[in-house]
Amino acid sequence: MLDDAEVKKVLVVTAHPDDVDFAAAGTVAAWTRRGVEVVYCVVTDGDAGGFDRLVDHGGMAALRRAEQENAAKAVGVTDVRSLGYPDGVVEATLGLRRDITRVIRQVRPDLVLTQSPDRDYARIAPSHPDHRAVGSAALDAVYPDARNPYAFPELLLEEGLAAWTVREVWLSGGPTADHFVDITDTFEQKVAALRAHESQTGHIEDVAGFLRPWLSANAERAGLPAGRLAEAFQVVDTA
Ligand SMILES: [Zn+2]
Repeated sequence: MLDDAEVKKVLVVTAHPDDVDFAAAGTVAAWTRRGVEVVYCVVTDGDAGGFDRLVDHGGMAALRRAEQENAAKAVGVTDVRSLGYPDGVVEATLGLRRDITRVIRQVRPDLVLTQSPDRDYARIAPSHPDHRAVGSAALDAVYPDARNPYAFPELLLEEGLAAWTVREVWLSGGPTADHFVDITDTFEQKVAALRAHESQTGHIEDVAGFLRPWLSANAERAGLPAGRLAEAFQVVDTA
């Protein structure tokens, strides 16, 4: 695993606005606190999410993009990129691999955090088909596409984007977490980030109370003392 000092830049690739905040906002806040630059790449605008059917897809997309920007600010992230794919129908196509490869080569991160392509039969909500498709395409973009100058040659020849090797990937929401980040000290920021997604979390009165049980369970699995909270990941060496 990379040492903290080796992680200077992180790219987070997720399917929907709010995915990063449920899965990893406490970890992101801890990174930005110690000076790590974090960039978000959100594949869809989440236009099929939410409860307010009076808002059309275009209106919902604009709203959720703005919510994600506010949520990002709550954890120290100002660079949020949207790929604009339609929500609910994401597939791990060559086109999506190329679009994620482009962002990897632009950002040149040490570490990519994305969603697990593997279904967790014990807890199915994180295994949404869009999440699994994005995780699969992002891993393919990390290896082999982004580091291979012959993959999607137009990225190099037309856009001047040189090959880049991402050294480590963290997967969220998968069945085999093996790395736990204590987020007790950044929990308030995670709550603030989730509150920023008003169209999704506005109906939850007590966001902190809603989050605590599974973050506590993660902490317990990690062997942390009672009262601590943790986010869970599977770490993949991609160097
Ligand atoms: Zn999602």
